[in-house]
Amino acid sequence: MKVLVINCGSSSLKYQLIDTKTEQALASGLCERIGIDGQLTHKVAGKKIKDEEKNAMPNHEVAVQLVLDELVDKEYGVISSLQEIEAVGHRVVHGGEQFAASVIITDEVKEAIESCNDLAPLHNPANLIGIDACKKALPNVPMVAVFDTAFHQTMPEKAYMYGIPYRYYEEYKVRRYGFHGTSHSFVSKRLAELAGLDLKQSKLIVCHIGNGGSVTAVKNGESVDTSMGLTPLEGIIMGTRSGSIDPAIMEFIAHKEKKSIDEIMTILNKESGLSGMSGLTSDFRDLRKGKAEGNKQAEITMDAFIYSIAKYVGAYVAAMNGVDAIAFTAGIGENAIEIRKGVMEYLGYLGVKVDEAACEKTGEEVMVSTADSKVKVFIVPTNEELAIARETRCLVEK
Ligand code: ADP
Repeated sequence: MKVLVINCGSSSLKYQLIDTKTEQALASGLCERIGIDGQLTHKVAGKKIKDEEKNAMPNHEVAVQLVLDELVDKEYGVISSLQEIEAVGHRVVHGGEQFAASVIITDEVKEAIESCNDLAPLHNPANLIGIDACKKALPNVPMVAVFDTAFHQTMPEKAYMYGIPYRYYEEYKVRRYGFHGTSHSFVSKRLAELAGLDLKQSKLIVCHIGNGGSVTAVKNGESVDTSMGLTPLEGIIMGTRSGSIDPAIMEFIAHKEKKSIDEIMTILNKESGLSGMSGLTSDFRDLRKGKAEGNKQAEITMDAFIYSIAKYVGAYVAAMNGVDAIAFTAGIGENAIEIRKGVMEYLGYLGVKVDEAACEKTGEEVMVSTADSKVKVFIVPTNEELAIARETRCLVEK
């Protein structure tokens, strides 16, 4: 089955056309600067074949049409007609408490997604625009919503309730939801396979460390706790997000610098984390370079980053009363040798032993702990698009 996977942001649209039989992406790409001037990058079998700056994309509908045009293009298209697209899988960020699994999109489902807009005001409206744009271009093709939050709906109350008045949960559903669920689900399943464990009787920890990052405790195949919260701001230090801080810092800075709540949120979401702490950029490679050049702030940031991840892993070992295997995934988790090594060194007390040679590998499935390590540690490259395509196929074929 050929599944078009769509990940729509407020001014961007990422896509992949995946053949679920071979599990390969036939084509992929990105529309950026939608509503500004428009830029389209299109790749076939991973090779960039088009990178156009002026594509005039006034809205997402036009962007979707341009993507479909690329897919059937006479010269470098990968399908001969749009009828070959049998289903569309949409990444939807927030499903609130209403969605614990992926669903076929109906009008009722769209309404329910809309009712979660408050919880993800930057993401959900964009996801809905993408759904509408695809519906218009491919009216008879079934579409599926795959939620970032769904995998975490198995968390027990003690893990998702905050220590604030209960009425905020009752009235506004203020609670921990967690994100990156598609990745945590995909990686935990693969981790169990690689470690030779029965997923249904295992204690796993997945460290998804990209520009955004979250750590999840997966017990017997279910998420039982995760580091992101009501929003993706909570948890480990991230590229530009602060992660967990003393909430009183917000009031303190607001008073000192006469800032509004919106300005403070911008600081915490966009100007903090690796970027704000180091004074460099949010890109891990710049941090690494800064540290190598003797930049003290970069060194402190690197240490704090590793420490923040290790603390969550430690907490989740306690939460599950043990751990059998740990995975590192996403841009930094898969590629940054010093991060996984640094985190693993904190875990010596668990019997984690680093395989120095294997730890140097990047971006591939590999065990980075020694064979006699009590807890097995792996790099497991994530593939959220493939996970969305698999979910979509399953639901459409039912
Ligand atoms: P997101 O999907 O959250 O935007 P990614 O998972 O793509 O983020 O991760 C982006 C991060 O991965 C960046 O900080 C980038 O520097 C880091 N990264 C990518 N490649 C490498 C590499 N080879 N070595 C170290 N870090 C890398």
